[in-house]
Amino acid sequence: MDLRLTPAEQDFRSRLEDWLTQVEVPAGLRDYGSTPTREDLDAGRAWQRRLVEGGWAALSWPSPFGAGATPSEQALFAEALARRGLPRQLSFVSMELAGPIIIAYGSASQREAFLEPIRRGEQIWCQLFSEPGAGSDLASLSTRARAAGDGWLVSGQKVWTSGAHYADYGLLLARTEPLADRHRGITCFAVPMGTAGVTVRPVKQMDGESKFNEVFLDDVAVGPGDVLGELGRGWEVALSVLGRERRMLGSLAIGLGAALTEVRREAERRRLDDAVFRARWASLWGRVQLLRWTWFRFLSDRGDSAADPRMSVLKLTSSELQQEVARLAADILGLDFVYGDAGARWRRVFLAGHGATIAGGTSEIQRNILGERVLRLPR
Ligand SMILES: Cc1cc2nc3c(=O)[nH]c(=O)nc-3n(C[C@H](O)[C@H](O)[C@H](O)COP(=O)(O)OP(=O)(O)OC[C@H]3O[C@@H](n4cnc5c(N)ncnc54)[C@H](O)[C@@H]3O)c2cc1C
Repeated sequence: MDLRLTPAEQDFRSRLEDWLTQVEVPAGLRDYGSTPTREDLDAGRAWQRRLVEGGWAALSWPSPFGAGATPSEQALFAEALARRGLPRQLSFVSMELAGPIIIAYGSASQREAFLEPIRRGEQIWCQLFSEPGAGSDLASLSTRARAAGDGWLVSGQKVWTSGAHYADYGLLLARTEPLADRHRGITCFAVPMGTAGVTVRPVKQMDGESKFNEVFLDDVAVGPGDVLGELGRGWEVALSVLGRERRMLGSLAIGLGAALTEVRREAERRRLDDAVFRARWASLWGRVQLLRWTWFRFLSDRGDSAADPRMSVLKLTSSELQQEVARLAADILGLDFVYGDAGARWRRVFLAGHGATIAGGTSEIQRNILGERVLRLPR
């Protein structure tokens, strides 16, 4: 393991810093995390266009589809944008889940139809995996695709589908062989969200935003050209998506260093930076740095492997740290945290942080993965 930047990485970083100081940031752009709200879309799309023009879009996609950046370069990019409070892309599901999955499993015509519009921010995807009865135990999903002519009719319900209310396509898991073993007989489809029979109902979140939805599927017609990967092999596709999701969600904590600096400045301004605050702050700062180095270590050890169960450390720690940093901010802001504009941003971070320990696999599930697959403990 060598944690020093290579000359190529140093060059990448200085080109990026130059670009970031010059680029015109679209009005109204904020760091909306992995999923924009509907209100964020115009600024998010304009930002994606800037990233395309600058050569910074689809960094994680291999050439010739995307920029083919190394994992370390992707990490440098993520850190630089987090420091400035800018989103890494228009939509995480489109760029980091759908795109790479289409590259890995899609046919030539699917790659042709989807990749460039996704890269340019002209096509948004959502992930139709979770159901009311299938979240942590995703393989128990019950959405059915019944054979009809040379295609299928899909019926069932999905839930927590981020961005479904404006998405153009959905990455859908449905059971094509109901009698097969639970991990078999599942197929992954690329479904146009405008197809007859798809009904999207937004869910209002406790932070006031509406990012995810219930999606009802009622005899939605799909054909052989909509299958992603092989018929009945959707579980393999799903595992690849979930591994990528965990890794990316883990990397979101990279922005916590900047957030902690902001909390320290606020404490100093309010003269609340006493010894108790400093001890709490330093402990969090140390853990954020450990997480950051662990992230770089995994990248340098394993390159781009999304299947590494150790990625669960990143997902688990970063989501829990996000909540703790927000709690420290809440204590410093006091009444301002509860009410008024001064604490509005932190209120959002605090409330959204509860979703972070659930999305992409709950903390309990990450602990199970680490216990069973990394530490080899009995089930
Ligand atoms: C912000 C956010 C965005 C999301 N976006 C999407 C999306 O775009 N697309 C999508 O498909 N899904 C999405 N999800 C859904 C997410 O993947 C599920 O919420 C998650 O997998 C947990 O499933 P569940 O909610 O059904 O909880 P359950 O699986 O019902 O779990 C309930 C509780 O039981 C615990 N539990 C369950 N099984 C075990 C076990 N074996 N051992 C120990 N404890 C266990 C869990 O940790 C949890 O505390 C999103 C969720 C959130 C919060």
